[in-house]
Amino acid sequence: MPELAINGGKKVRNKKFPPYLPIGKEEFCRVKEVFKSSIFSRFLGCWHDDFFGGPQIQALEKEWAKAFGSKHAIAVNSATSALYCAVGAIGTEPGDEIIVSPYTMSASATAPLIYGAIPVFADVEADCYCIDAEDVERKITERTRAIIVVDIMGQAYDPKIDEIAKKHNLKVIEDCAQAPYAKRGEKFAGTLGDIGIYSLNYHKHIHSGEGGILVTDDDELANKLRLIRNHAEAVVEAKGETDLVNMVGFNYRMTELEAAVCREQLKKLPKLVKERQKIVEYLEKGLKDVPCIKTPKVRDNCTHVYYQHGFLFDESIAGVHRNKFIDALKAELMPMTLRETEGVKISSGYVKPLYLAPIFQKKIAFGSKGYPWSATGRDYDYSKGICPVVEDLHYNKLLSHEYMRPGMKKSDLDDVIKAFKKVWDNIDEVRS
Ligand SMILES: *Cc1c(COP(=O)(O)O)cnc(C)c1O
Repeated sequence: MPELAINGGKKVRNKKFPPYLPIGKEEFCRVKEVFKSSIFSRFLGCWHDDFFGGPQIQALEKEWAKAFGSKHAIAVNSATSALYCAVGAIGTEPGDEIIVSPYTMSASATAPLIYGAIPVFADVEADCYCIDAEDVERKITERTRAIIVVDIMGQAYDPKIDEIAKKHNLKVIEDCAQAPYAKRGEKFAGTLGDIGIYSLNYHKHIHSGEGGILVTDDDELANKLRLIRNHAEAVVEAKGETDLVNMVGFNYRMTELEAAVCREQLKKLPKLVKERQKIVEYLEKGLKDVPCIKTPKVRDNCTHVYYQHGFLFDESIAGVHRNKFIDALKAELMPMTLRETEGVKISSGYVKPLYLAPIFQKKIAFGSKGYPWSATGRDYDYSKGICPVVEDLHYNKLLSHEYMRPGMKKSDLDDVIKAFKKVWDNIDEVRS
């Protein structure tokens, strides 16, 4: 008689897991205020008091800056827009190179393309999965303008990158979409580089449906970010900016409704993060006796906020490939309520290394003639094998799950632990 569900045995769990519901009546009350005012957005795309947005936007920006200890916070309609603003604000020239991680959501690597710049991929760390400082340094050329670092899965990037950036006079854009409220020393992730970005998308720690926030301590960068957010070209003349005629602005404005939701979400963030950390601690204790998985490394002097909980799988101990282990594990468990369509939230790796996506393989981002790569007259290599660590992680080693979201009770966590243990205890059944 088979034990494992994948072979026809009984599942560890037949009930869906509880939903992650960070939104409550506080958000509803604040949104009601906006409804009563009837002003859903008060931005104007010209030089005017309303260039800076309405009362919810301005309050959110003040509160966000204070919570994270940065001089400026600028609200936009997504983290993707925030990345585009950041690459524009640092003065990227067409043909510049920007060093990026291949293990991230696609926008953190495609942002340079919007300004005609070239993403150059550096490999990631085998233990923390963030961009690798040594490989970053190897990839620097006289064309390099910036490094986009990603606080992947929930912890800050390697501080060595800051030294490298300083030495080579490069800007650091920190994509902190997955690590709000994580700390490195006394500082919050997101405030470690020249510009930081946060996401308020539905899948993130806190959300307003869609939304993004930029932070910076630099007045000049903040000015440019605000211009790019809101029709720079229509604003600069009246604003008296004589040096900033080279800016095409967008409409990346956040609405008052989203800002209202986000203000309440921000207040909940510390508690939601602490809850995740407590859940992870419980899970890791429970999974100690499953020898083929290793808990993720937390960098010295840093805290992790666990957007995902990423383990390292050791095939030499398990005697089976990671994917077979994960298939067996998933068969024991159930999806999360409200996220049923996403299936059981355990994944083999994270995203396919980005350079393997068709846009990089074919090297065409705009039009049909290979722009921007063709405009550089240089050759860029995006072939399989350029970042061996990320490929090994993605295809063989990384096992990540999302059953550490607040709302999971002890009994729910015990089922997750039970499933891992059951698959390990019956690993012979997986092998055969
Ligand atoms: C989610 C995410 C983004 C994009 O965020 P949006 O707000 O959805 O545009 C960018 N980078 C990383 C690392 C992300 O996880």
